[in-house]
Amino acid sequence: MKKSMLSRRDWMKWTALGAFSAANTGALRADFRHHNKPGLESNGTAYDGAAAAPARLTGGKVTRPAMEISQISECDVLVVGGGPAGCCAAISAARAGAKVTLVERYGHFGGLATGGLVLIILGHWVAGTDGPKQVLAGIGEEMMRRLEAMPDGIVNRKKGANPTIDAEVYKYLLVEMLTEENIEIFLHSWALDAIVDDEPDPHSGLPVVRGALFQTKTGPVAVLAKQTIDTTGDGDVFSTAGCAYDRRLYDIGLVHRLGNLDRAEPSKDQGAKPPRHLGDVTPIPGVRWVNMGGPVGDGVDVKTLSRLELEHRKQIWKQVQEIKKTPGYEKTYLMETAPQIGVRITRVLQGPQTLTIDQARAGKHFDDCLGVGGAWNAEHGPWEIPLSVLVSANVENILTAGRSLSADWGMSDVVRVIPNCWVSGHAAGAAAAVAAMEGTTARGANVAAVRDLLKKQGAYLGEE
Ligand SMILES: Cc1cc2nc3c(=O)[nH]c(=O)nc-3n(C[C@H](O)[C@H](O)[C@H](O)COP(=O)(O)OP(=O)(O)OC[C@H]3O[C@@H](n4cnc5c(N)ncnc54)[C@H](O)[C@@H]3O)c2cc1C
Repeated sequence: MKKSMLSRRDWMKWTALGAFSAANTGALRADFRHHNKPGLESNGTAYDGAAAAPARLTGGKVTRPAMEISQISECDVLVVGGGPAGCCAAISAARAGAKVTLVERYGHFGGLATGGLVLIILGHWVAGTDGPKQVLAGIGEEMMRRLEAMPDGIVNRKKGANPTIDAEVYKYLLVEMLTEENIEIFLHSWALDAIVDDEPDPHSGLPVVRGALFQTKTGPVAVLAKQTIDTTGDGDVFSTAGCAYDRRLYDIGLVHRLGNLDRAEPSKDQGAKPPRHLGDVTPIPGVRWVNMGGPVGDGVDVKTLSRLELEHRKQIWKQVQEIKKTPGYEKTYLMETAPQIGVRITRVLQGPQTLTIDQARAGKHFDDCLGVGGAWNAEHGPWEIPLSVLVSANVENILTAGRSLSADWGMSDVVRVIPNCWVSGHAAGAAAAVAAMEGTTARGANVAAVRDLLKKQGAYLGEE
């Protein structure tokens, strides 16, 4: 760029930026050079706004006009939501040879186990004849082993105990495991709607899901798929496909982490009580995670979520100030509140079968068993996860797993713990892959082939 081509104002701006950038890092310098050099063409495209299709206000009512949506991908198995269930589903389907697309609304994976700071891994033991017996196997167990091999990944992993993981290590591990499998990944993409075929299934006459629509920064985009797994936890896809489901209210909390507890000097005075709300240990010395029950609410109601975020943040702040006022605990600090509010149960799919707590306690056997779940604290025996609780009762080619699978009230509380979400996710991924590759519906998936695949992938399907 010659000086003669610039206005005086541009030149001043350009040299000022140059002086500023010289004092900064190479990366920052490159950024400024690229974007702020006057007279250079930008690397984008100009947009005249003529193609916009805004919502309309007509007679006091807001409507959305019909518009064509750009298709960004076509795959065998679409997994929506990259929490514990969704990541296992995507990995399983990809390892089976299916072309998998995984879409997540945030910039990281792990769902409530990372973004929600839910760090303790319950539910992978059952009551056995010689004490607690681990039922978790397959991809979830592989995750635990890999966390164990990573610095600061996991603590308290021993027989009968519930270990605690580190959210950042788990986020990183998921990136590693998902990218190892050649899975197509879209982050920052929020599922809006299921895509339902105009033609019903020729055999059952039921509607057929063909993928989902996502809202992104570039606008709405479509992913077409042979099989779609809704692991958003909240049934954001199956609820828009016309699937029957229950909408439940449950406790909604907000988790946080405290720092510097290794620097606390508890009073030696016999009568002195330690402060409340100190939480539990994590793999990082001095850092503790603090769970919150919270009031019962509707976790898919935006007004409830907004109100509880504000209330919970105030409550946490107050709790931490109380701790800091306690002699010996002055150095404690609020390290982090969970970026994601702790919604436990919302929409629960209605499948051809519904798992019940009574069936689980009685150890009921299902012919279409695709996995075995554990108890919160090894207080009861193993229970089976059949295909018929992972698929919809009234819509084809849509599956779910994790906290939204078909279960009664009591059982939802068991299926939702992280290891059980790993197991049901693993099962749903395998079932979707087999259905997509054999050209059947999800409900009609070849159970023998899915079970064989799961066994090859290291899953535990019960005593044979
Ligand atoms: C406060 C709290 C404490 C808990 N304590 C424990 C505990 O101690 N031990 C334990 O084992 N379990 C505990 N749980 C339960 C456990 O954390 C969850 O049930 C489990 O993480 C559910 O896994 P999931 O994959 O089904 O769903 P989630 O973890 O909710 O993952 C869903 C994923 O989908 C994404 N998503 C959601 N909507 C969309 C959308 N529209 N488009 C795209 N992506 C979307 C989310 O961002 C997320 O990544 C607790 C839960 C809470 C809330």
